[in-house]
Amino acid sequence: MDELKSCGEFEFIRSISGRCAKRADIILPIGDDTCALKINNPLLVSSDLLVEDVHFRLSHVPASLIGKKTAIANMSDIAAMGGNALYLLLSIAVPKNLQKNWLRDFMDGLLDKLNQFGVVLVGGDTSSSSEKVFINATILGESVTAPIQRSTASPGDFICISGYPGEAAAALDVLEKHRTSELAQKTHYERTPQLELGKIISKNSLATAMIDTSDGLVGDLAHLTIDFGMGAVLWEKEIPVSPLFPLLFENLRKNYLSYMLNGGEDYKLLFTSKKDVADIEELKGKGVFCIGKVTDSPEIILRKNSGEKVILENKSFNHFLP
Ligand code: ADP
Ligand code: MG
Repeated sequence: MDELKSCGEFEFIRSISGRCAKRADIILPIGDDTCALKINNPLLVSSDLLVEDVHFRLSHVPASLIGKKTAIANMSDIAAMGGNALYLLLSIAVPKNLQKNWLRDFMDGLLDKLNQFGVVLVGGDTSSSSEKVFINATILGESVTAPIQRSTASPGDFICISGYPGEAAAALDVLEKHRTSELAQKTHYERTPQLELGKIISKNSLATAMIDTSDGLVGDLAHLTIDFGMGAVLWEKEIPVSPLFPLLFENLRKNYLSYMLNGGEDYKLLFTSKKDVADIEELKGKGVFCIGKVTDSPEIILRKNSGEKVILENKSFNHFLP
């Protein structure tokens, strides 16, 4: 099969520039030293780095799903601010001996997901690497109302999550155990960025603080509470159990709590609110669950179904720990 060295950087750039949507706010698209963009609201900018064998494995999934995950992880950050996602910059470094099809399929997945959510690729950089694939994407968006921050929760606020926690980590576990499963690939790599919900929450001022779940429920909840001298109590019976768990594990596993508490990369919205979701009209039927409350003591406690209370450790992934 064709290797990348037979194609070259410029041919690659030409191949993608023709595939990016044109829009009135994009004064200069891919192709010049910079793009030129016109937006009227405060700019939201965030960057994400994906490294082969740290964030994804080439052997697990087709390249297109890695492209999709790149787009999704970035759009999720804009969703977490309640913003409108607009543009993406992509810098990618790949080994010269990588199959040419890999990069084409990666771009197919990335552009497909960006198109689905109205985000346009407006630039980036392309390089070779000695061994692994490195992908850095920067997303730009606009804040139509005020950006929803992490730091602004208060004790007594309800804790809400926009879906079932732990699915992405459970799916990754299935893939790590060398079981090829289309369901697991899709569940881990093709999450739904919560852009629409983020906008509903910001437009209606429904959240006091918000984050997207990339580290895991407990880890991300700590970023809303412990980091600012507060804590939380989670009610086990209210944390929704994904119907995908038994399908992913072919009914072989019964206890999913560790995935639900510590599993990362779900890209759901975790937010605090003055009201219980049951009392918020705009969130009815949106798959949002109220799972606990913010407290004023700096620890995260799980009130178990048995009534017992346990202090939860933050077991989210830390890149610099051994
Ligand atoms: P420069 O030498 O200024 O870095 P390049 O030749 O690398 O310019 O890039 C030419 C154009 O292609 C620029 O508009 C750049 O933003 C875009 N570009 C390069 N690589 C990528 C990529 N991986 N994804 C999207 N746009 C890219
Ligand atoms: Mg360049």
